[in-house]
Amino acid sequence: MSVPAVPANFFAGLECPRCGAWLDGQSLVGTCACGSPLLARYRLEEAATALPREALAAREPTLWRYHEMLPDPGAHRICLGEGFTPLLPAVTLGDELGLSRLYLKDEALNPTGSFKARGMATAVSMAKALGATRLALPSAGNAGSAAAAYGARAGLAVDLFLPESTPVPFRLEAEVTGARVHLIPGSIADCGAALRKRTAGFGWFDLSTLREPYRLEGKKTMGYEIAEQMGWQLPDVVVYPTGGGTGLIGMWKAFAEMEALGWTTAARPRMVSVQAEGCAPIVRAFERGEETAAPWEDPRTEASGLRVPSAIGDFLILRAIRESGGTAVAVSDAEMRAGIRRIGRTEGCVTAPEGGATVAAVQRLLACGWIRPDDRVVLFLTGTGLKYLESLTG
Ligand SMILES: *Cc1c(COP(=O)(O)O)cnc(C)c1O
Repeated sequence: MSVPAVPANFFAGLECPRCGAWLDGQSLVGTCACGSPLLARYRLEEAATALPREALAAREPTLWRYHEMLPDPGAHRICLGEGFTPLLPAVTLGDELGLSRLYLKDEALNPTGSFKARGMATAVSMAKALGATRLALPSAGNAGSAAAAYGARAGLAVDLFLPESTPVPFRLEAEVTGARVHLIPGSIADCGAALRKRTAGFGWFDLSTLREPYRLEGKKTMGYEIAEQMGWQLPDVVVYPTGGGTGLIGMWKAFAEMEALGWTTAARPRMVSVQAEGCAPIVRAFERGEETAAPWEDPRTEASGLRVPSAIGDFLILRAIRESGGTAVAVSDAEMRAGIRRIGRTEGCVTAPEGGATVAAVQRLLACGWIRPDDRVVLFLTGTGLKYLESLTG
């Protein structure tokens, strides 16, 4: 009887980007003892010889096509078809804005309608593989929906802490997929505090943004995908609506990994972080030249994914923006609504306000010459607009 080949995996362990501590990644862990997020590391030299990029072409159209460069949940891989979303050339929108090579990465096509599915696919798979039985997290909406769905499929209990102001569709979606929803007064930061007050007693594994190492790994696959979908020529500019920053940090990590694998050349994109005028801690810290971001008082924006007053990975977001030669821009909610309508009218995508924000940011950066008309620009439409009824109505 032939034994099926064990799929190669190059996961090496977890490293702390702040204090340099190293963990083997064989047990359930949250953050480093020093408080920093942990980053997954891989045996890149070995992978560079064993894994040519041509090997990917025939694989399944999900993020697991990059499984050698992801943590390995073994038999506990939980998949709902996440990842490998379309990268759409946006000719009409590009013409209107004055960009000859504009693309939209449409993350609305993920399970539960946002790119949060990517992170939850890898995080919930690993939590299950490493023995967690109950999951909990604070969420402004989409992360909760995704955690509930992947938790249901994994057979794990999920407790969500959502701000009272969370739009109804997010709450209903999470309840339909079996999560227990706790509504908390205040912002996502208050939800996080409420959760952490209780985790100890309940045996919950905390899936908060960057408080466990594997959501980042799922999100980094957006970087692998745009490289593969653009024929391994990375774009000049990536425009990313930033809340907790997992996607931005993850893509920047992916670009470094792919360079080490010999899949791409050294020219990496300039990363643009877009936030809301009513909650822009990263933009403010970037402009002040600071290494970490002070919490934003009284965060206000319709874009719930951007209503993140303080991010545990702030220093990693700011580092990625600066290393890339990028920048950070704040836009108003009115501009986000206009962006939603413009993307819808020109390209047929119904995006969330976070996606709408990218258009306003590009207009601003074109006007000041920071983006050039022939730059290859990718806008991240991070989620569907269908859960944000208020933002669609005018
Ligand atoms: C969560 C979310 C964001 C922010 O993503 P981060 O990676 O946490 O910065 C942006 N857009 C939407 C639709 C989201 O749900």
